[in-house]
Amino acid sequence: MKNTDKRIGIISNRKRQSQEVYYLLKDKLRKNNFILNDKNPDIVISIGGDGMLLSAFHKYENQLDRVRFVGLHTGHLGFYTDYRDFELDKLIENLKLDTGAKVSYPVLNVKIHHGDGEVSVKRALNEATIKRSGRTMVADVVINQVHFERFRGDGISVSTPTGSTAYNKSLGGAVLHPTIEALQVAEVASLNNRVFRTLGSSIIVPKKDKIEVIPTWSDRHSLSIDNQHFLYNNLSKIEYQIDHHKIHFLATPSHTSFWNRVKDAFIGEVEE
Ligand code: NAD
Repeated sequence: MKNTDKRIGIISNRKRQSQEVYYLLKDKLRKNNFILNDKNPDIVISIGGDGMLLSAFHKYENQLDRVRFVGLHTGHLGFYTDYRDFELDKLIENLKLDTGAKVSYPVLNVKIHHGDGEVSVKRALNEATIKRSGRTMVADVVINQVHFERFRGDGISVSTPTGSTAYNKSLGGAVLHPTIEALQVAEVASLNNRVFRTLGSSIIVPKKDKIEVIPTWSDRHSLSIDNQHFLYNNLSKIEYQIDHHKIHFLATPSHTSFWNRVKDAFIGEVEE
């Protein structure tokens, strides 16, 4: 397949700056004979921030095996974005030179068991966070069929390696290199006193492990999957595992190293 035969889909947020970049990029891609196709793309370019890349992931989550993603940021460089808005020509040149190379990262599979026996499945790129609406969440945490602890507190977040720098980090979780195939469980404000006890620190489980969270009360719970939010009235169990599919990013010379991104985002330049 010639590079210009690759189908390119573009997804952008509604901000004026992003919309301007969207139309400019579309025009440049057409002039370079690329095929624009939002329905069955080989490459998806998201324009905006990390949030927009999360939206792009969810739009194409059923085509993960075929699609490669590229993030173009209209602000500062993000965690999922490799290009800035003034680098359109560089992006097009790299697309022309593309050999099909990709960088792949794990995705979280979330199986939601409802009280009526129904099961629904979702995927997360950053994390899935379960909370009980308005009340303390009480839930049993089971790891590989071992009852690990009874959790009491605001909620539990299970994150992917690439999600480890997002909500998980704010919860005191560790930053994981995205090539480590593992999931991280972080507590959201657990109750710890003489009566109630949880581990207190976050835990990192390997690829094959299964985490289950079984709420003792099946009433109203909220589940946040990346930037999407769901409410359930009758929840019996949530199972978390690494998904069989990965997310693929276009590997270009601009794919910034992970530790550079972490340094850029959280440390910056410190004066000696
Ligand atoms: P948003 O666009 O406001 O994103 C929040 C911030 O998280 C942005 O600065 C974004 O760049 C950053 N971010 C997103 N993914 C990241 C990643 N993998 N590593 C480092 N930073 C990342 O809000 P949104 O579009 O709704 O994004 C949803 C994400 O926001 C969630 O997946 C969650 O991880 C994060 N979040 C964080 C907190 C917190 O840190 N207290 C609270 C809620 C949600």
